[in-house]
Amino acid sequence: MGLLIRGGDVVTTEGVFRADVYADDDGIIRQVGRDLEPASSSDRVVDAGGQLVLPGAIDPHTHVALPFMGTVSCDDWFDATAAGCVGGTTTIFDFVIGSRGERPLETLEAWMAKAEGKAVSDYAYHMAVIEWNDDVEREIPEVVARGIPSFKAFTAYKGALMLEDEELFKAMRAIAAAGGILTIHAVNGAVLNALAEAFAAEGRLGTDVHHLCQPPESEGEATHRAIRLAGLAGLPLYVVHVTCDAALKEIQEANKRGQEVYCETCIQYLLLDDSLYSLPDFEGAKYVASPPLRKPSDQEALWQGIARRTVHTLGTDHAPFHFETQKVMGKDDFRKIPNGMPGVEERLSLLYTYGVETGRITLPQLVEVCCTAPARIFGIDDRKGAIRPGADADIVLYDPHWEGTFSVKTQRSTTDYNCYEGWKRKGRPTQVFVRGRQVVRDSAFCGEPGFGRHLARKPRRR
Ligand SMILES: [Zn+2]
Repeated sequence: MGLLIRGGDVVTTEGVFRADVYADDDGIIRQVGRDLEPASSSDRVVDAGGQLVLPGAIDPHTHVALPFMGTVSCDDWFDATAAGCVGGTTTIFDFVIGSRGERPLETLEAWMAKAEGKAVSDYAYHMAVIEWNDDVEREIPEVVARGIPSFKAFTAYKGALMLEDEELFKAMRAIAAAGGILTIHAVNGAVLNALAEAFAAEGRLGTDVHHLCQPPESEGEATHRAIRLAGLAGLPLYVVHVTCDAALKEIQEANKRGQEVYCETCIQYLLLDDSLYSLPDFEGAKYVASPPLRKPSDQEALWQGIARRTVHTLGTDHAPFHFETQKVMGKDDFRKIPNGMPGVEERLSLLYTYGVETGRITLPQLVEVCCTAPARIFGIDDRKGAIRPGADADIVLYDPHWEGTFSVKTQRSTTDYNCYEGWKRKGRPTQVFVRGRQVVRDSAFCGEPGFGRHLARKPRRR
């Protein structure tokens, strides 16, 4: 059974135009154009009049069922991908993060097993390198051969995930030789530890000092260092969750020099600021994530970055933890609060409401940062990220006229709070398709666990 979506406004990175979209029963888009007719009488015809037709959004940054800080992020692969689908996100990139002493391929197998039979939409992985030894070095090309050419390194979380500069540089050279790209969490880990220790010594252990331990300068410094090391290693670099002008400027400088460096920010860094860490009753813990929320001036720099296309992608760093049972682990010491916030479900509508509706960015820019650029940078643009013939029929019908609010009461994620509780929401996905299969009907989830597939990718270059 083919699928014909009629009369909607198709959005690409170039513009918005009225067109019909036809996908065959293999779930591939075959035609985009005016006045298309069904190919057979069994084809399903969906009226998209008055709605936007968006490519299924791609979240380049999630942490599904991640063991972290003594607990596990609370959405499993079914919940996280279902939450993504109702929010219009039909592909996620999740970080495979093991523990020291575990081989990368072992960790990868564990990750694949977690997603298998649960994911309702497609997914891909970034492989974290959290230590450097012969096993890791040997397995990097094997990880690439399994369709995972993107890696992750951390310059923070000393003693757990952080690589020292020598290890980082060796990893960069090995990843470059294997045809990979490195994503990096860039905050100076030594500064973070020293400042956290100093606050603790003064007895300051509340959420109000979380952001003070990793100031924008510490992010700018680590971003600069990672960029220079990657340049030396001849490696394309992708800086995850850029929060501030200090880091953004380093990336812009590198791009001006002609270095291949990408900038990802996340929706929370555009909309929430560090005043939330001073909320009473431990409420600030809901927003404890690393890097932390910043000042409104940094938000403004990031918005301008999207509008000027110097911020390349928008992710979520979706890493949900329950407030009542997990965040509370750090009630007496902010250093023990599981770091992370939910967002995979809200990202698209938030960006539409607070970006497009306010005139800060355009619809094609929304599609660029949420769909097309992540696909291009991470090598799935042959299948995902655009409404065009030959691509998978990952399609979101978005009703821009609907009005409501964000709330924990209506969300699909299992988290027990919503970072945008009560915020106005303009528009929502009504019908969502993954490879032509409907996963959201009339804004309600109707997907099937196990339908999602791993997207094996080719190395970027050799
Ligand atoms: Zn992350």
